[in-house]
Amino acid sequence: MAPYNETVSASEAELPIVLSRAEHPVSRSDIDINAIKVLYRLHHGGYKSYMVGGAVRDLMLGRRPKDFDVSTSARPQQVRRLFRNSRIIGRRFRLAHVFFRDGIVEVSTFRRDPDPESQGNAQSELLITDDNVFGSPEEDAYRRDFTINALFYDISDFSVIDWVGGVEDLRGRKIRAIGDPEVRFQEDPVRMLRACELAGRLDFDIEEWAQAAIRSHRREVEKAAPARLTEEVCDILLSGSSESILRWMMRLGLLEVFLPEAYLVLSAGEHDAGEFESIPSVIDEMVGRGETLSDAVLFGAVLLPSVLLRRRDVEAIDQRPVHRSALRELTSEVLEPFVARFALSRVRTDQLHHAVWAFQRFGARWKSAGDRIRFSSHPGFDDALALLEVLVGATGEGRAKLDLWRKVQQQRPEKPAPRGPARPRRRRRRRRR
Ligand code: ATP
Ligand code: MG
Repeated sequence: MAPYNETVSASEAELPIVLSRAEHPVSRSDIDINAIKVLYRLHHGGYKSYMVGGAVRDLMLGRRPKDFDVSTSARPQQVRRLFRNSRIIGRRFRLAHVFFRDGIVEVSTFRRDPDPESQGNAQSELLITDDNVFGSPEEDAYRRDFTINALFYDISDFSVIDWVGGVEDLRGRKIRAIGDPEVRFQEDPVRMLRACELAGRLDFDIEEWAQAAIRSHRREVEKAAPARLTEEVCDILLSGSSESILRWMMRLGLLEVFLPEAYLVLSAGEHDAGEFESIPSVIDEMVGRGETLSDAVLFGAVLLPSVLLRRRDVEAIDQRPVHRSALRELTSEVLEPFVARFALSRVRTDQLHHAVWAFQRFGARWKSAGDRIRFSSHPGFDDALALLEVLVGATGEGRAKLDLWRKVQQQRPEKPAPRGPARPRRRRRRRRR
């Protein structure tokens, strides 16, 4: 039975469950020192001060968290006053960033789900567009996406507080939406992607009701802001578990809508190109080895099979190789719908084009070693070489070519001049919407 539904209120179900320090594995020594400082300063300032979200989930599972978020009863202005090294950010979701030399701690005030009347939408529209209504800890737990993401670690007594049945779902290894998944996914379709990401990353199951809701509402993922979707693509491909995340999305019909290019990768066997199917697991291995992959490489790896299969079809019809001049056009035709759907910036778009273009030049006939070395200064060369590594890993072919071009890279006299501004540091994901 779902630990929470609309007919059983939290109090009737005797929630919250409070696990004392002896009953859970979350230890202060595993929490980021900056987050500890923030938690204590808020607590000593007289506010409720909890570590929340993925950090509690991961520590409960014995995993190392990606980031440590703090939630408090202090309003953003009060947080601002407590920490000279802080700044209030965001409009739809106002929160404070506390800056340290070696990182940022995000501090949000307890919120509740906004009143639909104040949303200014038609009654039937559930999509949440504003999220600045402050609330109690209980309300804050209920507005979160999944039960396992809604646990609080209380710095005042080191207990873990569970309003929504998250502890039980951690034990049962289940991803369960808080409340009715149909409603929660319509409010914010990105939650459907997050369900698959969590299931893939943690090797959890998605409970049946949520699976069914994803199948019925999968098309609504198109309503989400392109910037959030782009962030999800990067998060998935850099997670080290992209293979199982994408498989979850495929199984629930989400992948065709969200990332049809990756759908093609995972179903490449149907196009006599089954070797492309291992691209995600090769990316996972590279991430696991700690390799840094640029966005152009991540996007390029997903898009290359579409480009190469298109090229194969054109060459089969024309019965000759695509001419260099037509290659650019063919590449653009495949890349542009992706670029438009995710509203990629000019810089990111250029880098992607350069990488995919340069990749295809590796197979050309080169007159001399000097030409090759000159080509290695092409702005997309390094990304293209990483793409070649992905493809060689997936197909098992082209190792000699990879070695050759790596040598060329080593012989390159100097680094190519940077084009445009350096890629900005990836913005930390805003909590939602
Ligand atoms: P990780 O940081 O490991 O990727 P996370 O669950 O911490 O996973 P964040 O994006 O850091 O993900 O979000 C922090 C918390 O904010 C989540 O655990 C969840 O409680 C809440 N949250 C994030 N996105 C949403 C959303 N779309 N709807 C509701 N709550 C959300
Ligand atoms: Mg997090």
